[in-house]
Amino acid sequence: AKKAGRSCFRFYTTAIQEKAARHLQLVNALRVALEQQQFHIHYQPQLSMAGGQLVGAEALLRWEHPELGNISPAEFIPVAEDCGLILQLGEWVLRHAVRQARQWREQGLALVMGVNLSAVQFRQPDLPALVARILQEEGLPASALELELTEGVAMYDPQQAIAVMNVLHEQGVRMSIDDFGTGYSSLNLLKQFRVYKLKIDQSFVRDIVTDPEDRAIVAAIIDMAENLGLLTIAEGVETEEQLSWLRAQGCDELQGYLFSRPLPAAAFAAYAQQHQPA
Ligand code: C2E
Ligand code: CA
Ligand code: CA
Ligand code: CA
Repeated sequence: AKKAGRSCFRFYTTAIQEKAARHLQLVNALRVALEQQQFHIHYQPQLSMAGGQLVGAEALLRWEHPELGNISPAEFIPVAEDCGLILQLGEWVLRHAVRQARQWREQGLALVMGVNLSAVQFRQPDLPALVARILQEEGLPASALELELTEGVAMYDPQQAIAVMNVLHEQGVRMSIDDFGTGYSSLNLLKQFRVYKLKIDQSFVRDIVTDPEDRAIVAAIIDMAENLGLLTIAEGVETEEQLSWLRAQGCDELQGYLFSRPLPAAAFAAYAQQHQPA
């Protein structure tokens, strides 16, 4: 037993060393990536349940490294948060997504642009000023921007988070809660959040057809949102069965592979041609 324990330990330290090496490799690569413009953004359509029209887009960051290949944001965003580069990277995404939304608007495609915001960005005292400046410089009305926040933004300092949301709300910017249901959220806090939409996490949506517990959770989220005057969007919708259950339940909006994967800007514009708002 002792022997097994020791080899297990060795395996464990090796895994940690490998993880640390990869982390360091990504930190160094991220610094260069910003300068060399290795990032681009894909846009995933968001549709209304009622008419199936395109109502929004979520901006999702993509990183194509010349040697390491495509690296998932699920891997590199936490690294960027650890080393502080998330501030520069987040500002880059915000500016380019806002610019894209303004260009589409000029071409007659009006939609709400959703941008993911890291909790680290959210804690910057100058965030509302930064958002206002980018909207002004790029020429987009505040109401065309939706910031996607996770429940985690309020963990550090709830009163501060609520104050920042109030300022952004006064500026006319929309906010939604991303991955809703997975975080640690107090309903009492939710009441004070200036959000207008809850994004139901895909981990619940995945099994709504087969799992009674996930069904109960999603039904409860939709009911609660309705009672609080909030909209709901289901993420990760992949099947017709999920769609019809969500429709019966009264979910307002949809996003997922059933409709479209996240697309490069040009492909998104082509998709939009077929799903123009009425
Ligand atoms: P998220 O904000 O929850 O984004 C939704 C993720 O689900 C995206 O993964 C999207 O491609 C994927 N997805 C969409 N529809 C489906 C579906 O029907 N089935 C399945 N299985 N997946 C679907 P992606 O693009 O890999 O992004 C992963 C996460 O990385 C995001 O999760 C978000 O937390 C983070 N992220 C991406 N871009 C940014 C960014 O610009 N800033 C920040 N702070 N985080 C970002
Ligand atoms: Ca999101
Ligand atoms: Ca999400
Ligand atoms: Ca997520």
